[in-house]
Amino acid sequence: MNAHSRLTRLGGSILAPHVLEAMTWAAQHYFDISELQAKIGARLAELTRNEAAYVTSGAAAGLVLSAGACIAGKDPAKLARLPCDAGELKNEIVIHRFQRNHYDNNVRTAGARFVEIGAHRATHLWELEDAIGPHTAAILYFAGPYEGPNLLPLEKVLAVAKARAVPVIVDAAAQIPPAANLWAFTQMGADLALFSGGKTLGGPQNTGLIVGKKELVEACALLGSPNYAIGRPMKVGKEEMVGLLAAVEFYLERGEKEQRERCESRTSWLVSELSGVPGLQVRRQFPNFKVQPLPEVVVEIDEEGLGSRRDEIVERLAGGDPRVEVAIRGRTGIVINPDTLKDGDAEIVVARLKAAIRVRARPRP
Ligand SMILES: *Cc1c(COP(=O)(O)O)cnc(C)c1O
Repeated sequence: MNAHSRLTRLGGSILAPHVLEAMTWAAQHYFDISELQAKIGARLAELTRNEAAYVTSGAAAGLVLSAGACIAGKDPAKLARLPCDAGELKNEIVIHRFQRNHYDNNVRTAGARFVEIGAHRATHLWELEDAIGPHTAAILYFAGPYEGPNLLPLEKVLAVAKARAVPVIVDAAAQIPPAANLWAFTQMGADLALFSGGKTLGGPQNTGLIVGKKELVEACALLGSPNYAIGRPMKVGKEEMVGLLAAVEFYLERGEKEQRERCESRTSWLVSELSGVPGLQVRRQFPNFKVQPLPEVVVEIDEEGLGSRRDEIVERLAGGDPRVEVAIRGRTGIVINPDTLKDGDAEIVVARLKAAIRVRARPRP
């Protein structure tokens, strides 16, 4: 039972019937895969108000392909140099030191080399100016929870990039909702924006979306399967392509609205059920920690009063049947995410949490 979030290690999203139907249909036919990619990309571009779009096997694959596209463009001789001989091309990618994270290594898979800017307290505009040179392929920027007061805001990065004619890649993998982010970053001036299909968009777990400038998106496609380049092992199946399209169509039509309403009503219910339970302090948190405009429920544990540590309670939730996965926050907080609960789950999570806090740790001798 997933009360945590749409995590890769917990299986991404639950697929809605219309997504499964589209995938089942695709599974029963043959296609020219490049043509299918191009047609689905054109439809996704139209839906997301972008010049072009491309379905990847995830946002992490999007990092590899977009870095490769910025390094090599559409020249087949250059594309063939990736990743090992990328150093013969302009292969530097500028990144805020403070934004380095576990996903960024994927751009190095394309042969990119990082040039870091900024420090703990601040990043100055001159650092960005200075980092851009003849070997610069792109600037990589992580949106949402990776932004902070010690970074240059995206607007400033985009202004410098535009003046110096350097492409900007925005990794916004988990920044949906709002659905409007599918076009917001590119309308601001980003050249490419990357999203996960298997997170809140509700697409197949192994999908992602690249949107943005036509030339760069076409370069991503040249790097991807069925072509023989660095993207070949990141194959996207016909089922995933049509599944993601179905998910995006639905999300834009009414999925976002339904998701918000579902999350709000579950949050209200959870907060009222857990309010007044001795040893728990419950509150609605908005936006959630991924900076998505969705509520989540934060439960602070009175460790002393209950005689159990927060982590022991989390272990009891995960150790029972069904296994209940929750997120942790701060030193004593547990987060229940209404977005990943299925109908009937919330009642079970509440019962299990109440049972887990009744277990008293044996008093220490
Ligand atoms: C989740 C995430 C990714 C990876 O996305 P996948 O679709 O699982 O490949 C990349 N970047 C960021 C910032 C993420 O949050």
